[in-house]
Amino acid sequence: MSNEFPPKEGWGFLRQTRKLHYFEPSGESLCGHWFMLFDNLVEARDDAPSNCAACRRRLKARQEAAK
Ligand SMILES: [Zn+2]
Repeated sequence: MSNEFPPKEGWGFLRQTRKLHYFEPSGESLCGHWFMLFDNLVEARDDAPSNCAACRRRLKARQEAAK
């Protein structure tokens, strides 16, 4: 077992919310409402309907900008 540092980014699940939010390496969600420390990142499709809509929109905008 090894903990990666800096932490990864990705979709994460919080008990407080039923949706997945996308967390940046800083620990902040893209929608700006949540913060967590990477222990709950999960594999998820970026466009899954159950994901937070604001996070999805911002992630997509960021991916578009990176092209
Ligand atoms: Zn979100």
